[in-house]
Amino acid sequence: MSFDSLGLPEQLLSAVREAGYENATEVQTQAIPQGLAGTDLMVSSRTGSGKTAAFLLPILTQVLARRASNPELVPAFLPRFGGRPQRGGPRAPRTPRANGPVVNPIGLVLAPTRELAQQVAQAAIQLGRGIPGFSVCTIVGGMPYQAQLARLRAGADIVIATPGRLLDVANTQTGMLSEIKTLVLDEADRMLDLGFIEDIEAIAAMLPKPRQTLMFSATFDGRVGGLARELLNQPQRIDV
Ligand code: AMP
Repeated sequence: MSFDSLGLPEQLLSAVREAGYENATEVQTQAIPQGLAGTDLMVSSRTGSGKTAAFLLPILTQVLARRASNPELVPAFLPRFGGRPQRGGPRAPRTPRANGPVVNPIGLVLAPTRELAQQVAQAAIQLGRGIPGFSVCTIVGGMPYQAQLARLRAGADIVIATPGRLLDVANTQTGMLSEIKTLVLDEADRMLDLGFIEDIEAIAAMLPKPRQTLMFSATFDGRVGGLARELLNQPQRIDV
C-alpha cells in the first residue's frame, strides 16, 4: 500500500521517499495507523519486514507535533534548522544547557543488543531528517558511559537503548524518562533470552502513565506473553 494513505505528515513522507521506500510493507500498513492512533500493539514480524520504520514513524510524528507547538524546543547544541552543527558553528555545551529548556525524550526504544540499537538509531536519523533539530540518543553497553550521559543531558527527542545500560543511566538521571509517551520493545523475546526482564520491568515502572507501548517479538508465548499482559493496555495483535 502507498505510504500516502497512512496518515503520516508530509515531512516524514518525503524522508520515506528519500530512503527509497516506494510502498509500505504489510507490517507498516497495519501498524502505522494504529501507532498514530495511540493504540498499544503486539506485533509478530520478522527482521526484514520493515518493522523498524513501522514503530519509528508514529514516534517521529509525535516529535514533529511537539516541534510545531514549541519551535524553541531544540537540543542546545544543534542549529535551529536541522543538520549537524556546522564547523565554527554552535558547540556542544560541556554542562547541561544554560540557554533554554532541555528537550526530554518522548520516545524510548529498547533493543536486545548494541548493534540492533545502533541500526534503529540510523533508521531514526534517516527518517527524522525533515524534523528541525531532531536528535537521537543511543545508550548502550560497551560504549563510553560519560559521553552518552553528556549527550543525553544536552537533550534528545528519542532514546534508543539496551536495557541494562539505560537503567544505570536512568537511576542517576532522575526525570530523564518523565516525558516518554511511547515505549517500544524491539525483539522482546531476545531481550528476555538475554535476561533483561527485570531491567525492562524496572524501566517500565519509571515511565509516565498513560503511555503507549508497542511490543515486537517473534512469538508471544510463555514469558513474553506474560510481559505483554503486564505492560500493554488493551493491545491490538498484528501477525504478519
Ligand atoms: P527492518 O525489518 O525494519 O529491519 O527493515 C529491513 C530493511 O527494509 C531495512 O533495510 C529498511 O531500510 C528496509 N525497508 C523498510 N521499509 C521499507 C519499505 N517500505 N520499502 C522498502 N524497503 C524498506
